[in-house]
Amino acid sequence: MTTVLDRRRFLGAAGAAALAGPSSLAAQSKPPNIVLIYCDDLGYGDLGCYGSGIRTPNLDRMAAEGIRFTHFYSGNPVCSPSRAALLTGRYPTRAGVPRVLNPKDTTGLPDSEVTLAQMLKARGYATMCIGKWHLGHLPQYLPTNRGFDEYFGIPYSNDMDPRVLMHNTEVIENPAVLETLTPRYTQQALRFIENSKDRPFFLYLPHTYPHIPLGASERFRGKSPFGLYGDVIEELDWSTGEILAALKRHGLDNNTLVMFSSDNGPWYQGSPGKLRGRKGMTWEGGQRVPFIARFPGRIPKGRTCAGVASVMDILPTVARLCGASLPPNPLDGIDIWPMLSGQKPELDREALLYFDNVHLQCARWKQWKLHVARHNSAAYSPAPQGGRVNLPLAQPELYDLVQDPDESYDVAPERPEIVKEIRSRIDRLMQGFPEEIRKAWEQTQAKKVPVRPVGSYPVQ
Ligand code: MG
Repeated sequence: MTTVLDRRRFLGAAGAAALAGPSSLAAQSKPPNIVLIYCDDLGYGDLGCYGSGIRTPNLDRMAAEGIRFTHFYSGNPVCSPSRAALLTGRYPTRAGVPRVLNPKDTTGLPDSEVTLAQMLKARGYATMCIGKWHLGHLPQYLPTNRGFDEYFGIPYSNDMDPRVLMHNTEVIENPAVLETLTPRYTQQALRFIENSKDRPFFLYLPHTYPHIPLGASERFRGKSPFGLYGDVIEELDWSTGEILAALKRHGLDNNTLVMFSSDNGPWYQGSPGKLRGRKGMTWEGGQRVPFIARFPGRIPKGRTCAGVASVMDILPTVARLCGASLPPNPLDGIDIWPMLSGQKPELDREALLYFDNVHLQCARWKQWKLHVARHNSAAYSPAPQGGRVNLPLAQPELYDLVQDPDESYDVAPERPEIVKEIRSRIDRLMQGFPEEIRKAWEQTQAKKVPVRPVGSYPVQ
């Protein structure tokens, strides 16, 4: 039996328990509201509570009143796939969005996928998406067709043309005025919270920033010692503070789970903290992101969790909290409520896979991360002669992410048994992926490459 099936059975049981158990949260009066704030390209080291000098008092307070994760992963090192993982609880390579979408694309998140919003809508939630969608801009793929009652935002990245601002399925501004986006998103969020306060609601706020080109309103521009990037982060922090204050004002504070995270690591500016790599890479800096969750009375205050968690875990966790039925598709995420609620410091879980586009490159199991493949050049750099290709590593590299958070010291020669264990997990897991993804992995493995120095780019 594959691990996916094992997990599905586990999740099914967890969901049933949440629905049936007298002690379950779902059994208590109104199911909780869910607010999910998702930044674009915000790095692991960009917040005060993650070691940055940028002032983020609201997020720091949110972390102090809730929990902060130090080993939380986005679903991918770039935008569209990461969002597919968040909204489906599945690897984007399984959910049909392995690549970044652009305005010329005519595809989006496939209809066969059930989104977090569809799941909660079926449970009676009011749902709204505000900000960057990036899972298809044609009408059938827009948020209003994927479980959201209302949408306000730019349907893809702010560096793509035409840069349109939409309300539901209509363009209301072209080009969208960058400096106004964060305050207008915030205004929409406050309006939605006020209008929905008498029923359970799901607010999904995927901010446009700090993805470039940056924009901050006059109130924040020039105020941070960290340039425009710092101004943008301070405005995102302000926005979060406004949302938390609104929840309090409407008496919703104790029945709302608020989560804050990012879709991938920092691009050209921004800080990955002590982690190696940036956006577009499967080094930790590309995919490990801040994750803060606050739920007064349910999530104990002031804790930091070093357990491994993924954005794919949000869907099954929310399903259990809200008493919603899990989608029929097998999930890759697991219910992390035991970590959020402080019952367990970490959970047993299957190896977490790292994909770059359709290509498997690494896997993390416990504190170990094995690199098995890598592109032959850096992301977002001029391609070498012959093009940018994914190649196997002649000697896979093993890093102990607890001892060595910045993946600087290969311990594969010292720990062959761990290398073997992770390799066999990869082999087993990959069998459950769609043909395109399995084939890409087989083709990578079939390539002959010479041994190169540890940590370098492979060559053919
Ligand atoms: Mg992004």
